Amino acid sequence: MTRILVAEDEPRIASFLKKGLEAAGFTTTVVGDGPLAAAAATDADFDLLLLDLGLPGMDGHEVLRQVRARGERLPVIILTARQVTRDKVAGLDAGADDYLTKPFDFEELLARIRARLRTQGEGEPDALRVGAVVLDLRSRHAEVNGRRVDLSTREFALAEMFLRHPDQVLSREQLLSHVWGYDYDPGSNVVDVYVGYLRKKLGAHPIQTVRGAGYRLRSSDG
Ligand code: CA
Repeated sequence: MTRILVAEDEPRIASFLKKGLEAAGFTTTVVGDGPLAAAAATDADFDLLLLDLGLPGMDGHEVLRQVRARGERLPVIILTARQVTRDKVAGLDAGADDYLTKPFDFEELLARIRARLRTQGEGEPDALRVGAVVLDLRSRHAEVNGRRVDLSTREFALAEMFLRHPDQVLSREQLLSHVWGYDYDPGSNVVDVYVGYLRKKLGAHPIQTVRGAGYRLRSSDG
């Protein structure tokens, strides 16, 4: 699941971006000011940041500077209403990967996003394997001991999180935010329900419950 952080303070544009990106299959989180954008870009695990330059609290340049200063490598596409070339150059110098001037064509934005994600994803494996479980990331199929297992979209996304982080304890909040997005009710037990589904389907490698902490996929039976 590809997660895009949208930093845009104008509700109309933010809502347009969110709807369009979600219709294109991306999970989005919208923040409306600079400090929130800088915090979210470093605290959470996003795949791309769409960054408006004119943000309250801290402008987009400063957000970008802070994000890069913390060593964050995530791709950043700047959205700017300003026509001034100086802004674009300054943005690219500060570590942006691309920029679009408003008003922009949504299809062009999608194309730019996909291009950035492809560049970033070079060297990304086609499949993840932990023990007997294989997830084919292109076809979105799962196999256990060579036998095809049908997973729903959510189940696949959850399994992918576990296989990307074997032997690591993942909290319910981490799993909720990655697989269901931040809009989900944090009190929901949906993670536990879906871990139950995965245990039935991927039985060979148990997902352990780590009491008070979350869940962990064991990479070996030992
Ligand atoms: Ca703005």
